[in-house]
Amino acid sequence: MTVTSKLEDNNNRDSVPFYSALDKALKKRKIKLDGMCAPTDPVGKRILEEYGAVFLATKKVLPPPRCVFTNEDQVTRFQEEAGWEQERIGFDYIELQPEALKHLRKAREEAQKEGLDITPRDGAEAARRNYEDSVRLWNSRFIPALDYWLSKGRLTESRVTELKGLPLSQQIAEVLELENAGIYFSKDLSKSILYSIAAPGTSQHIHMLAFDVNEFENPRVREILAKHGWFQTVLSDLPHFTFLGLKEKDLPKHGLRGVEVNGQTFWIPNVDGSKHPGLDK
Ligand SMILES: [Zn+2]
Repeated sequence: MTVTSKLEDNNNRDSVPFYSALDKALKKRKIKLDGMCAPTDPVGKRILEEYGAVFLATKKVLPPPRCVFTNEDQVTRFQEEAGWEQERIGFDYIELQPEALKHLRKAREEAQKEGLDITPRDGAEAARRNYEDSVRLWNSRFIPALDYWLSKGRLTESRVTELKGLPLSQQIAEVLELENAGIYFSKDLSKSILYSIAAPGTSQHIHMLAFDVNEFENPRVREILAKHGWFQTVLSDLPHFTFLGLKEKDLPKHGLRGVEVNGQTFWIPNVDGSKHPGLDK
């Protein structure tokens, strides 16, 4: 993977630090960061810094009230408060917050005028998901990875049993800890699980502000999506686009910085200039 930080670009020169931008954004919404995501919790911090772009989105959408949802009830309440609309694309029905869907429709119309299209990857799951979906998808990476590392002798039978039995919050913490030692849980087992699937209860799909796009490899499709407020904000998750509803040129002012990976630009939280843990893969 070729990674070029675009920090030296004009674009990023006046990139505001993520936490100052976040502070400002939360104040406007009258939310306290501590109540949303305990600063002492390393998992919450990591998740905020990987998926946090969503908290800086336009005021026309509702970001989640917490970094990690821990049950279906919390998710249902949030999704009802935010509201969503449905759209049929091909044979699939996808659901997003109304403002996000409105701009996806516009992007799609523009793409279609040029003989292109923007379609959901893996059907309805490309957009809104519930808590249970996020747990199931986590297990679809977690369980096969455990089997693999067991077969390689990197984990013992008893350790695997123990990991499977842990409460989710602890399980996530342990997985991230194992990944520090090179025991990765992504689908291809070569990078962090967080670039492959969100930890349960943390997905931007739960927030109804993410859409997985089949045509992500087409630069013109990415350009059209960006024009309509949709950006890649999770490193290495290539088909995954997040609705921010902001202009691309304004993203640095909102605490994000552009990072180019294999010719694709990701807008990620501008936490510091240090090397990103996912970048050496
Ligand atoms: Zn996604």
